[in-house]
Amino acid sequence: MALSPANPAFVEKLSACLPADTIRPVEAKYLQEMRGKWHGKAGCIALPRTTADVSTILSNASEACVPVVPYGGGTGLVGGQVYPQGPDPIVLSLERMNAITSVDPIENVIVAEAGAILDNLHAAAEAENRLFPLSIASSGSAQIGGNLATNAGGVNVLRYGNTRDLCLGLEAVLPDGRIWNGLSRLRKDNTGYDLKNLLIGSEGSLGVITKASLKLFARPSNFGTAMLVVKGPAAALDLLALVREKAGEAVSAFELIHANGLHFLAETMPQITLPFNNPPEWSALIDLGLSADQNAQSLIEAIFNDAHEAGLVSDGVVASSEAQRQALWTVRESIPNANRAVGSIASHDVSLPLRSLPDFIDVSIKALAAIGDMRINCFGHLGDGNLHFNVFPLVGKNRDTYSDLRDAITKCVHDLVHNFEGSVSAEHGIGRAKTSDLARYKDPVALALMTDIKKTFDPKGIMNPGVIFPV
Ligand SMILES: Cc1cc2nc3c(=O)[nH]c(=O)nc-3n(C[C@H](O)[C@H](O)[C@H](O)COP(=O)(O)OP(=O)(O)OC[C@H]3O[C@@H](n4cnc5c(N)ncnc54)[C@H](O)[C@@H]3O)c2cc1C
Repeated sequence: MALSPANPAFVEKLSACLPADTIRPVEAKYLQEMRGKWHGKAGCIALPRTTADVSTILSNASEACVPVVPYGGGTGLVGGQVYPQGPDPIVLSLERMNAITSVDPIENVIVAEAGAILDNLHAAAEAENRLFPLSIASSGSAQIGGNLATNAGGVNVLRYGNTRDLCLGLEAVLPDGRIWNGLSRLRKDNTGYDLKNLLIGSEGSLGVITKASLKLFARPSNFGTAMLVVKGPAAALDLLALVREKAGEAVSAFELIHANGLHFLAETMPQITLPFNNPPEWSALIDLGLSADQNAQSLIEAIFNDAHEAGLVSDGVVASSEAQRQALWTVRESIPNANRAVGSIASHDVSLPLRSLPDFIDVSIKALAAIGDMRINCFGHLGDGNLHFNVFPLVGKNRDTYSDLRDAITKCVHDLVHNFEGSVSAEHGIGRAKTSDLARYKDPVALALMTDIKKTFDPKGIMNPGVIFPV
């Protein structure tokens, strides 16, 4: 169906249906995205205060066939929060719907509006001595609605799962304005299709998430953290197996780090203290979280000794205070910013079956060397099989020098991921960045079912056009 712009006449009519100051003129900050690849357009910015306001906005948009782009914290990395092509949309920001409505330490459930910032959920859970474990470096700006819409992952997936695994229920507004109340707090509810799992990861293409009920966990109070030097990805996998054997469920994170990440930090963020004088080619950051009566420090030290004896690690640093633990995490969390400062030619957020990871890394590095001379920073959430496989210019060269090679590099990496039975989007989603990859690699039956689901939820195609499916 042909879409219409949010033109002045439509904006005036919409404003009249809503409380004062809900509809505002366009501001530049809603038209930008983190990677600077797309620049959005908009006819107006909608700042609803209630679910009923969201419903009014969507029913008006649906009637007039005006596109709607949900906007959370704007930290998405695949361009889903901006709409560069097509008629001017309504950008619907959830920022005013940011209340945390309940934190229940008996049920271990937190309920919040979609615009609640992730850091505020962490703080609210902590106030009740509970943990909301979703941990991503954008948590000061990203909203829980955006986390759900992208099914965000992060560093604690190994232990607690991704956002999908943390969600018990949702409230959402469908494109025609109907409010779906699925804000269940139940852990068992076998009453047919699980609609919340269609909205989670839908990147604003099926409706607007307005509220969520989410799982809380006991708060580990005792941490064992170490950065250990490994020979390579295969040794890192053996180390992961050993760590799991010794520490079981206490393993909160297991991150693979390549020397280039540490070199980039030294180059662009010299204020950050690096754990090693000479960056090792490969290292692993391990975090164990135990309850107060267990000794995580001695457990991580014992693991270091065992791994050393088994020939899996050659060196390492064990944090002996919370400050040292934070310093190790600052190194890991700052690598994406250092990458941005260096400027990648192409970046790939991929996942692989664990056993295939070492071969994938080896084969990909060789395949890229045949395309050109480049630096690779391969790092990520190894425990989940999630790699950020990013490709950079040689020292002294600029990313623009390689622009002719960019598509070939990405096709090479993604073809290999597919051949190794992995996924070309592990945690960032499809957005606008990977629509052609989805068409290329997704199972055709799955793709046909996804197309039918989109049509069922959004027959007029007003929700975030161009996201997941190309316009
Ligand atoms: C420094 C940095 C580190 C990051 N680390 C990680 C990481 O470790 N793991 C990870 O998974 N991601 C990571 N990200 C990516 C990003 O933070 C996540 O995708 C996050 O979940 C996006 O949330 P947001 O509120 O910013 O959403 P936005 O960027 O505003 O939107 C993202 C998508 O969700 C849709 N959307 C937003 N809110 C709603 C809603 N209420 N209802 C329906 N649709 C909605 C938008 O239309 C868009 O398609 C990182 C980003 C940065 C900048």
